[in-house]
Amino acid sequence: MRLAVIGGGINGAGIAWELARRDYDVTLFEKGRCGAQTSSATTKMIHGGIRYLERLHFGLVRESLRDRAWLLEHLPSLVKPIEILLPVYGDSPRSRFTIRAGLTLYDLLAGRNNIAPHRSLSADELIERLPLARAGLRGGFTYFDAQVDDYALARLVVDSAIHEGATVREVTRVISLRRSGKEWIVGRASGEERFDFVVNAAGPWMNALLSENRIRSRYRLSLVRGSHLVLKHRVAEAGMLLQSVSDRRVFFVLPWKGTTLVGTTEIMHSGSLEHVSATEAEIDYLIARFNRYVRDPIGRDDIASTFAGVRPLVGRSTNPSALARDYRLERRGNLLNVFGGKMTTFRSLAEKAGMRVDNYFGRVRTARPATFAVINV
Ligand SMILES: Cc1cc2nc3c(=O)[nH]c(=O)nc-3n(C[C@H](O)[C@H](O)[C@H](O)COP(=O)(O)OP(=O)(O)OC[C@H]3O[C@@H](n4cnc5c(N)ncnc54)[C@H](O)[C@@H]3O)c2cc1C
Repeated sequence: MRLAVIGGGINGAGIAWELARRDYDVTLFEKGRCGAQTSSATTKMIHGGIRYLERLHFGLVRESLRDRAWLLEHLPSLVKPIEILLPVYGDSPRSRFTIRAGLTLYDLLAGRNNIAPHRSLSADELIERLPLARAGLRGGFTYFDAQVDDYALARLVVDSAIHEGATVREVTRVISLRRSGKEWIVGRASGEERFDFVVNAAGPWMNALLSENRIRSRYRLSLVRGSHLVLKHRVAEAGMLLQSVSDRRVFFVLPWKGTTLVGTTEIMHSGSLEHVSATEAEIDYLIARFNRYVRDPIGRDDIASTFAGVRPLVGRSTNPSALARDYRLERRGNLLNVFGGKMTTFRSLAEKAGMRVDNYFGRVRTARPATFAVINV
């Protein structure tokens, strides 16, 4: 059985790995370099997503926390626990009571897989550990999540798929997709190939891929850009989760390879998906929100670089923060369309995709154990 996977981000790579471990003959097509798009422009968090609790996305958070535990256990050299400090000010949009309730639920959903339970911190304890402004600080919390080199993770999953027998064709754009009897014909600049099953995992390019090939679907993606600043210096040893007063959004300040990441933003994206970058307005927004909380304000000179990516989110809303980070798998005969999906949940998503493929072929296959290929990072 010949299967094609279109898109070599974390989700396409994870699916190719899963299908290869189920002994399918898999070819992955990636128009550029695997992992070089959305999957390397993330906040680098392997997390349940504490803020999704506010939107009552309990299933997503529970699944993400399970996948976080799996990654911490199976990939300890790449996925590491990180402590996050959460200061609360007098004008913070969420009170200490609300945050304590959220963190308690987060601990409960992690269950026995929890890294460590959250704790309360006094204003003095926070000031000792973070360069925070003192005025209005009411105290706060500490909790744990995990951090990863996202690009290294995506490449490792690609290498693991190859190790299990998948063929990976980089710099190979799929330009057409059409049915011929029971098969799919996948067109590339250099010719056409026939497959028994196709998985579309083109991330933010899904809408375009489907409409260009006149493939109907129940879902449409909203494209939401997120930008980050990379500061030249390390602000603190621990991470911070800060609340923006004006729009209630939360954003991270994270230690990252000797520098500091500040992000992210959430802006509806309407332009090209190639070469996405942070706008001046997003840079100003992040600088202003960061400076609200710290003793030593930053300016443009403190920024080493910026990066941005576009989230593929399922559904429609005028408020990008309200869109779920959940994913949807839609199978229509021998075509499986993948919509959305966090980096953290790539393994669960891939496992479900594997089951949908098995359903089509009418035989349940047991995947070989998920053992990562040798790490070169
Ligand atoms: C700013 C930001 C921060 C985030 N932070 C986190 C986080 O901290 N933790 C977390 O878990 N998740 C996070 N996410 C979410 C996560 O990064 C994405 O949901 C995930 O990377 C999506 O992976 P993907 O494989 O679906 O898409 P992509 O990584 O974009 O992969 C899709 C691939 O398909 C290829 N492609 C498209 N069309 C074709 C074609 N016609 N032929 C061949 N190839 C094609 C593209 O080149 C691309 O490489 C964040 C996302 C953003 C944008």
